[in-house]
Amino acid sequence: MRAQPINIVGAGMAGSLLAVLLAKRGFAVSLYDKRPDPRAATAERGRSINLALAARGIRALERAGVMDAVRPLLIEMSGRMIHDRSGDTKLLPYGWKPGEVIYSVGRAALTRLLVEAAARYPNVTLSFNQACIGAGASENVLRFRDENGDDYDVPLATTIGTDGAGSVIRTSLAADGFVKACEDVLHHDYKELTLPLLGFVPALEVNALHVWPRRGFMLIALPNMDGSFTATLFLAKAGERGFASLRTPDDVSDFFAREFPDAVPLIPNLLTEFFQHPQGLLGTVHAEPWYVGAKVLLLGDAAHAIVPFHGQGMNAAFGGLHDVRCAAGSAQFVGAVVRGFRPHAPAEYGGDCGDGARELRRNARHRS
Ligand SMILES: Cc1cc2nc3c(=O)[nH]c(=O)nc-3n(C[C@H](O)[C@H](O)[C@H](O)COP(=O)(O)OP(=O)(O)OC[C@H]3O[C@@H](n4cnc5c(N)ncnc54)[C@H](O)[C@@H]3O)c2cc1C
Repeated sequence: MRAQPINIVGAGMAGSLLAVLLAKRGFAVSLYDKRPDPRAATAERGRSINLALAARGIRALERAGVMDAVRPLLIEMSGRMIHDRSGDTKLLPYGWKPGEVIYSVGRAALTRLLVEAAARYPNVTLSFNQACIGAGASENVLRFRDENGDDYDVPLATTIGTDGAGSVIRTSLAADGFVKACEDVLHHDYKELTLPLLGFVPALEVNALHVWPRRGFMLIALPNMDGSFTATLFLAKAGERGFASLRTPDDVSDFFAREFPDAVPLIPNLLTEFFQHPQGLLGTVHAEPWYVGAKVLLLGDAAHAIVPFHGQGMNAAFGGLHDVRCAAGSAQFVGAVVRGFRPHAPAEYGGDCGDGARELRRNARHRS
C-alpha cells in the first residue's frame, strides 16, 4: 500500500467508483464530499432519480468488481417506446442482437452502493459534510469547510476533482489560468414527475425507455425498482411553450392534455409535483486541459458535463475511469491517467474549447 493519499473531491458517481478502482490498486485514498453520507441520508431531490446505464459504464463497474452487486438494481430497457400525440406507441429497439439493451438504475441506490464498496477498503478514508472551497495549484493547497463552518487546508498534490458540473476545483484552476473552462447553460430546463403503480400494475411497459417526443421539447420516463416510473419533462425556460408560460394549474393541465394526453391519467399528482418539484438546469462543460502537472486532475462532469438527452454523462464519466492506468508514484499516476483518459474526452469531437462541447451537444440532441 502507498502512503501518500490521493484526494478525491466529490463522492458522486465518478468519485466513488474511482475510489474503488484506486483502492483496488493499493493507493491510499481520501474521499471528500460536501453532502451527508449517502449510506445514512435520504435521496436528494432535484437531480435525476434514475439514469440509463449502458455498456461503456458497465465495463467500468465490472473492472471495479462491483457489477455483481449492481446487477440487482438494474431494469433492462430494450428500446425507446415512442408515444405520439394520439397515444399510439412504437418500440424502437436499441439493438438487433439479444443483449443489446441499456438499463435503468436509481441514482441514490447506485451512489450508496459505490460508497459502500469504497468504504470496504481499509486504504480509503471517507469524509462527508466537507465542502471544498478552493484549490491553489501554485500554493499546493486544497481548502475545505467542515460542517461547523471551520476552514482547513490539506496538501493539493495529488487531487482528483470529481465535484460535478459546478466543480469548485475547475473554477479555482480556471481563475488561476491553469485550465480554460467553457460552461454553456442550455435554454432548456427539466422537471421530474412520478408515474406510480396503477393499483399493483406498472403504468407503462416496464422494459422500455418511454419518450413523448415533441418539436423542441419532450417527456421521457424510466422505470424504477418499485414498479413506478420517473418522468422528466425537458422544456425551454422561456417562450410560448416554455416553463415560464406554465404559471397556473390550468396552464399545466391544458399543456399536458394537449401534448401528452396518454400520460395525463398516469401522473395523478401532476399539479402538486409540477409546482413543488425543482426546475433543474442543464448544461455543457468543457475544460482544457483536465489536469495541472502531476498535481490535480478533473474527471467526470467536472471535466466534461453534457446534456442528458442521450444518457451520456455518467456513462462517459465511468468510461473515463475505465481507462485509468495506475503507475507506481503519484506523478506518473496523473500522467498515466491523463494519457488513458484523453481518447474519450470531448476534444475528440471537435476543435478548440467550445467547439467540442457544441458538437457533443448537437450529437446528443440529434440522437434523442
Ligand atoms: C436530468 C438528468 C438526467 C441524466 N440522465 C443520465 C443518464 O440517463 N445516463 C447518464 O449516463 N448520465 C445521465 N445524466 C448525467 C449524470 O447525472 C452525470 O454525468 C453524472 O452524475 C456525473 O457524475 P460525477 O460524479 O462527475 O458528478 P456528480 O454525480 O454530480 O457528483 C459530484 C459530487 O461532488 C460533490 N461535490 C460538489 N461540489 C463539491 C464541493 N465543493 N466539495 C465537496 N464535494 C462536492 C457532490 O455532492 C456530488 O456528490 C443525467 C443528468 C441529469 C441532470
